[in-house]
Amino acid sequence: MKRLAVLALLLFLAAGCGTPQEQNQSHTVFAMDTVMTLTVYGQPAITESALHEAEGEIHRLDHLLSVTDPESEISILNESMGVSVSPETAALLEKALEVSRLTNGAYDMTLGYITEAWGFRSEKPGVPDQALITKLLSSCGYEHVQIAGRQVEISPNMAVDLGGIAKGYAAERVMRILEKSGVESAVISLGGNVGTLGQKPGGDLWHVAVENPDKTKDYDVVLLLDGGLFAVTSGGYERFFEEGGTIYHHILDPDTGFPAQSDLKSVTIVSSDGTLADGLSTALFVMGSEKATAFWRQHAGDFQMVLITEEGIFATPDLTLESNRDVNTLEAEP
Ligand code: ADP
Ligand code: MG
Repeated sequence: MKRLAVLALLLFLAAGCGTPQEQNQSHTVFAMDTVMTLTVYGQPAITESALHEAEGEIHRLDHLLSVTDPESEISILNESMGVSVSPETAALLEKALEVSRLTNGAYDMTLGYITEAWGFRSEKPGVPDQALITKLLSSCGYEHVQIAGRQVEISPNMAVDLGGIAKGYAAERVMRILEKSGVESAVISLGGNVGTLGQKPGGDLWHVAVENPDKTKDYDVVLLLDGGLFAVTSGGYERFFEEGGTIYHHILDPDTGFPAQSDLKSVTIVSSDGTLADGLSTALFVMGSEKATAFWRQHAGDFQMVLITEEGIFATPDLTLESNRDVNTLEAEP
C-alpha cells in the first residue's frame, strides 16, 4: 500500500536552466505517506535556504498531525479523548469542523478507527466485518468533537484523522514559508495537492496536469493557473485494494463506513484556500457529481472545480484548461 515507497529516499535535484535569476531547483520529499515535490525559481542564495526551511516545515507538520506517529498531537488526543493541544492544531481542528459543517458531514475527520479497520495504511488491507463497522460508526461524528480554545474533547471509541486535509494545510504553510524567504515563483505538489506562487518565469500561467484517473494516456486535462492558488485532486484510484473482484478505495462515506459509492472518478478543487480545497476534494468525491455540482452552485465564490465521471469531464466556467477531450462547462444555474 505504500505509494511509491521507492521514492522514500530524499532526492535532491538541482537543475539549472535559463539565466541565473531564472534558475529552478526541484526538491523531492517523502512525508505524510506520499511523495512531494517543491520547485522554486530564483537565485540559489534564496531558493536553497527556502527549500530547506520548507522541508523542515513539512516534517514538523507530519510529526504534529500524523495518526501513525504515536507522539503526534493527534495521536495523543485520540489516546486521551480530552487534551490541550497547540494553538495551531486547535485552529486546524476548528477548520476541519467548519468543512464538516459546510459539507453536511461528507467530510468527517472522526473516521480514524474505521480507516484503521479497513487497513488502508497497512500492507494488508481488507474488508472488515459489517458488525465492526456498525459498532465503530456509532461512535463517529464530527458533532461529537468539542473545541474550546486549546482544549479539545472527543468521544470514546472515536479517532480523529486529518488525512483528508493535512496535505492541503501543509501546502499552504509551505507557500507561506517560500514567500517569506523571498521566493517569488514556485510550484509545489504534496501528493496531489498543488500550490502555485507568483508567475512562471517568462510570465506564463502555471500548467497543472489533472491526473488521469484511468491511468491511461488517452486523454489529458491541464489547468492553467495564476499564482496564489491551490489545486487538489481526490479520487478512488489513488489508494485502493481488490477483494473478491471488488475494488475498495480509501475515501469513506461517513454514513456507511464503506468506500463512497461515488459516480466520480476524481474531483479537482481550485481555491486560494489550500486547506479548504483539500477538505472539499474529499467531501465532494463522497457527495457524487450531482450533489457536488449543487454544492458548487451554492459556494461558487469560494472555489472552482473539475469533475471526471464515466460521462466525461465537467468544469466550472471560470477555470482555464486545456484538454484533448471535450470539456463540459457547468452552469451556475440548474
Ligand atoms: P489523499 O489523502 O489520498 O490525497 P484525500 O484528501 O481525499 O486523499 O483524503 C483521503 C484520506 O482522508 C483518507 O486516507 C482518510 O485518512 C481520510 N478520509 C477518508 N474518508 C474521509 C471522509 N469522508 N472525510 C474526511 N476524511 C476522510
Ligand atoms: Mg482531501
